[in-house]
Amino acid sequence: MAAWQHAARRQSMDLFEHQARDLFAAHDVPVLAGITANTAEQARSAAEQLTGKVVIKAQVKTGGRGKAGGVKLAEDPSDAHEKAKSVLGMDIRGHRVRDVLVTEACDVVEEYYFSFLLDRANRTFLALASAEGGVDIEQLAAERPESLARVPVDRHVGVDAAKARKIVEAAKFPAEIAESAADVVVQLWEVFIAADATLVEVNPLVRNQRNRIIALDGKVTLDENAAFRQPAHAELVDKEAEDPLEAKAKAKDLNYVKLDGQVGIIGNGAGLVMSTLDVVAYAGEAHQGVKPANFLDIGGGASAEVMAAGLDVILGDPDVKSVFVNVFGGITACDAVANGIVQALEILGDEATKPLVVRLDGNNVEEGRRILAEANHPVVTMVDTMDGAADKAAELAAGA
Ligand code: GDP
Ligand code: MN
Repeated sequence: MAAWQHAARRQSMDLFEHQARDLFAAHDVPVLAGITANTAEQARSAAEQLTGKVVIKAQVKTGGRGKAGGVKLAEDPSDAHEKAKSVLGMDIRGHRVRDVLVTEACDVVEEYYFSFLLDRANRTFLALASAEGGVDIEQLAAERPESLARVPVDRHVGVDAAKARKIVEAAKFPAEIAESAADVVVQLWEVFIAADATLVEVNPLVRNQRNRIIALDGKVTLDENAAFRQPAHAELVDKEAEDPLEAKAKAKDLNYVKLDGQVGIIGNGAGLVMSTLDVVAYAGEAHQGVKPANFLDIGGGASAEVMAAGLDVILGDPDVKSVFVNVFGGITACDAVANGIVQALEILGDEATKPLVVRLDGNNVEEGRRILAEANHPVVTMVDTMDGAADKAAELAAGA
């Protein structure tokens, strides 16, 4: 995966199962009663409230919790206490379990698979459905593709009762539950649209002994590009898991994504920054495999304050060994950007210790370069070309 694809992928947010479940409930998707708990004692009282058998479910943003032992049936409240004790704190594929969802147990008769997703490759939305659910869907798609119905959905037409029935038929859901399954499909589409999701997945969607259709599990991915019109999204962010550098950048209104390399990147314009990531990753191959440490687009303005805020975040990353500032002067010309860099270095003072490779080009470039040359700051190296600057930044990071 190219570095820019990695950065773009971060523009989405996965929800915990209990958050997906709340979202489902708000749109009348049938779910089981459930209570979240972060101690075994809380799990016991949740089980007391729910009465009967309960299921203790690890809340981690990864699949296959069942196989990993993160989904356990409990007979009664004291069993719930014991099972919660064993699940809380568990490590599931690198995700530590901080909460469990305690739900009513379900008398499952059959398990199905259902999802709506954004099909980027075909520029459409897609319903994926199968009467064979509960299993790993990638495996099903690979081994028995004929059992997985793929039905394109036009965003502007949406999913009404007739469309939902077609999807359910294509998936060969049993006739006796086709109608109620179609109702749930319409409600899941409402969730998908109302939340600006790129994925709503129910695996398994089940039928119980009374032929009721229930969403037993839920995975939802939200499109963070829609955050401006989805104020509720902010409340769904997992603050504890948030990268501290990303949190700091967000507080400063910077468009920053942490990556795992050593060369800090600052640029103006998302397109330029994305290509900078790729150029640095390529240059790094000749320098001990160093890679870009972040995505940071400081936008068109590139004022001294924004430059200082960006440098401050990047220099605060202990992995960063060198910084590549790649600016193309447009409306904000190179002389203004150069002044911004000089002032930013003044603002940062002693904190600006790591080598800075600056490549300026575009509007008023001669004046910009003159300003930087005159300032003659000890950490700054100017390189005229993007490839040359990427190579220099990679070399400095590798040598550090
Ligand atoms: P995942 O493994 O992370 O996908 O977690 P799920 O929530 O899908 O649970 C895994 C499996 O546990 C499901 O596919 C079901 O077969 C089973 N399961 C979960 N809750 C219940 C329940 O209340 N009753 C029954 N019979 N099975 C359940
Ligand atoms: Mn599941």
